[in-house]
This record gives sequence, structure tokens and C-alpha cells, in this order.
Amino acid sequence: PALFLTIGSLALYLFVKTNISAVIIVVTFIGYTLTNFLGLLVSARLYSARRKEFLSRISEQAAQEKLTRLALQDELTGIANRRNFYRQAEAEFAYFKRSRHPLSVLMIDIDHFKKMNDQYGHYIGDVLLQSFATTVKSNLREQDLFARMGGEEFVVVLNNTTEIESQIIAERICRAVATSKTQVAHAVLSMTVSLGMVHQVLPTQNSLQSLLNRADRALYQAKTLGRNQVQLAS
Ligand code: GH3
Ligand code: MG
Ligand code: MG
Repeated sequence: PALFLTIGSLALYLFVKTNISAVIIVVTFIGYTLTNFLGLLVSARLYSARRKEFLSRISEQAAQEKLTRLALQDELTGIANRRNFYRQAEAEFAYFKRSRHPLSVLMIDIDHFKKMNDQYGHYIGDVLLQSFATTVKSNLREQDLFARMGGEEFVVVLNNTTEIESQIIAERICRAVATSKTQVAHAVLSMTVSLGMVHQVLPTQNSLQSLLNRADRALYQAKTLGRNQVQLAS
């Protein structure tokens, strides 16, 4: 409206040459400029408020994501932690019971890890744990569940995998760990692991915990038989 008023007054001034038109032009021009300036100020205020709100929402979201990650991820290795394992493994076990696809569990424990910690220190022990997790991950498929149960004990769940395939994966992990070398400071270190494997074809009365216990017993057997090997649960 201010623009039309200015143009109208300008036309009036040009054709009729009234002084009042000149006054209208000046007044509307000033009004026009002032309202635009005010509009600009209000928009800037609104923009900065919205921006602040947006930024705080983003940082809230990031904090929430970090909390979720901390609750589900093992901080040292980045893989699933014990709590996350039980959540996912229970779901896998329920699917196993429904679908009748076979399920395998590998319980893995690093051999003589206490000695390595004592000899090289806790920090190097941590580096070895990280390197171990990387080696195992590179030998698993996307759908396999790999978690740290605590300390130097890990677990892998393979779903819809035959017994022979599971055994091949377990042996592959055992060999990959034994042959991989980790460079720490001026030393090149290697380690071995023992694995206990259980393979279940039919969902009988077994619970997830009973599968884990059987894998644990097979792991114990692998330890007593000399370590650096895979033992199958009977
Ligand atoms: P075995 O072959 O019978 O399994 O012997 P081991 O020495 O590996 O087993 P043991 O259970 O006696 O020792 C486990 C060691 O793992 C003890 C502990 O210091 C170490 N450990 C557990 N968690 C961590 C960790 O987060 N970081 C480091 N650096 N060491 C850890
Ligand atoms: Mg150990
Ligand atoms: Mg142990």
C-alpha cells in the first residue's frame, strides 16, 4: 500500500503539481522505510530465536544419541556390550524358535591375557583387545552378532548358519587371531584365543542361557586341551 500511495502521489505531483502530493510522497517514503526497517529487526530477532532453538534441539539429540551409544556399546572396542548382547541374542533366539533356522554360539576367550597385561602393561592390553575385536569383525558377516561379555571374553552368534559353516568361521577366527600381529611401541605382539562352539538345529526346550552355558563348557575344554583351538559342545 505504501508503494502504491507513493506512486499515486508521484503521478499526482507530476500531472497536477499539488504540494500536498510532495508531502504525501515524503511521508509515505519515510513510513515505508521505517516499517521495512522494523520488519527487518523483527525478522532478525525471530531468526536468531529459531536458530538458537534449532541448535539446542540438535545438541539435545546428539547428547541423546551419545547416551544410547554408551548404554549399548563397549567403550574400548566399539562392539556391542553385554547388555546389548542379551537384548539382541534374545531376539535371535526367539527367531530361531519361530523360524527353525539353526543357531550357533561361539564363546571366545583370549589365552593367557593376564600374563600379557602383566608383562606389557594395561594400556598395551587395551590395544590388544581393540586389535582382537578388529580381527574378529573382519572375519564375520554383517548379520552376525559380536559382543564383549566382559574382560577378555567375547561372544559371537551366527544365525541361519550350518554346523560346518559355523565351524569354518570359528576356525577362521582362531587362525586369524593367531597370525595377526599388533605393533605396539617398539614391539610386535601376537596372541591366541580359545573358542567354545555350540550349534543348535532344533528349538527344543533350550533357553539362550543353556546355549551359552554349553558354549562356555566347550570353551573350558578348549583351554584344558591346550588353548589356541576350537572345541564343539557335545
Ligand atoms: P586363560 O588363558 O585361562 O584365559 O588365562 P587368562 O590370563 O587370559 O585369564 P584370566 O581370567 O586369569 O585373566 C584375564 C585378564 O584379563 C585379567 C585382566 O587383567 C585382563 N583384563 C580384563 N579386562 C581388561 C581390560 O579391559 N583391559 C585390559 N588391559 N586387561 C583386561
Ligand atoms: Mg583368558
Ligand atoms: Mg577369561
